[in-house]
Amino acid sequence: MQTTIAQRLAQIHAEIDALHAPQNVTLIAVSKTKPASEIREAYTAGQTHFGENYLQECLTKQQALTDLAITWHFIGPIQSNKTQAIAQHFSWVHSIDRLKVAKRLNDARPDHLPALQCCIQVNISNETTKSGLLIDELEALAYAFSSFERLQLRGLMAIPAPTEDEGKQKAQFDAIKKQFDDLNTKGFALDTLSMGMSNDYTIAIQAGSNMVRIGSKIFGARA
Ligand SMILES: *Cc1c(COP(=O)(O)O)cnc(C)c1O
Repeated sequence: MQTTIAQRLAQIHAEIDALHAPQNVTLIAVSKTKPASEIREAYTAGQTHFGENYLQECLTKQQALTDLAITWHFIGPIQSNKTQAIAQHFSWVHSIDRLKVAKRLNDARPDHLPALQCCIQVNISNETTKSGLLIDELEALAYAFSSFERLQLRGLMAIPAPTEDEGKQKAQFDAIKKQFDDLNTKGFALDTLSMGMSNDYTIAIQAGSNMVRIGSKIFGARA
């Protein structure tokens, strides 16, 4: 028998609870490529945080969902020419990986909205093909946020290189957690570690993640 979105959400919450992690974990439902009707279904089941990668697709869906109190997270690669709309239509941005994008988001964030909640995306596997900032450059970008009044730096986001090897998955998450802890030791007050997707979120939570971004396990495989 096919499960519903509500049942899959309940299952994920049960799996998270069963980990007995000390931190509270926020679940972001990643709804890219999925219709507004499925977002509404998840919302009706109690899900309020949604993550999207593609600006135009998301804006269209937002217009169909204005009656819902959704917290929207932008999690996809950011082109400079999209920063204005992202700053206007999202509460969170997880994928900031360069100064120019941060500056443009700050300039475009409307005064009547709260500060944009931000994570720096780090490239933990140091793969030049991957998006995300290299570790060497992380501290400088984190310091730069202090001059952006309309942005609040909350933490780090990462998408580790895919691997079936749980030991390697854990090592990558541990490495991100170490960067996070190091920044806080240096005086930052970061409270958000955005890591873990459908295939690896339990390992990410065990490594200290407190925000998981889960798509296919809630909404089914994407075309
Ligand atoms: C698509 C996506 C996800 C969700 O991936 P699933 O494997 O479907 O859970 C999470 N984070 C980012 C940045 C994504 O692009």
